[in-house]
Amino acid sequence: MAYAYDDHNIFAKILRGEIPNSTVTETEHTLAFNDIAPQAPTHVLVIPKGAYVCADHFMAEASDAELLDFHRTVARIVADLGLQADGYRTIANAGSHGVQEVPHYHLHILAGRPLGRMLDKA
Ligand code: 5GP
Repeated sequence: MAYAYDDHNIFAKILRGEIPNSTVTETEHTLAFNDIAPQAPTHVLVIPKGAYVCADHFMAEASDAELLDFHRTVARIVADLGLQADGYRTIANAGSHGVQEVPHYHLHILAGRPLGRMLDKA
């Protein structure tokens, strides 16, 4: 399936500087910022600057430089925020069953309290 990227989404607006964000870190290819409605004491969103809709779109079509930069940035955030000791969770929602609200690929990094089981049973 070919993904069509809609550049009206809120993260595209953040990347264009049209709305503010609380930046955690920024690199050539990647931006990380605090979630506006945090689900845990630490809730960082990591996004590629390129126009990718979801995880498999990014993983299939991003350049090696984008992929490396994104993942090294996640690792650096985990280290810089000291998340290794107590642990953390990364989540990437995709599509309707994944309940993805913003159609620009983003990885949630959640930490700072016990996060419970990964999924409820519903
Ligand atoms: P999704 O459900 O797509 O995986 O997650 C989207 C996330 O984006 C949600 O956790 C939501 O709180 C966050 N979000 C939505 N709008 C904004 C915004 O304008 N700024 C920031 N920082 N986060 C947002």
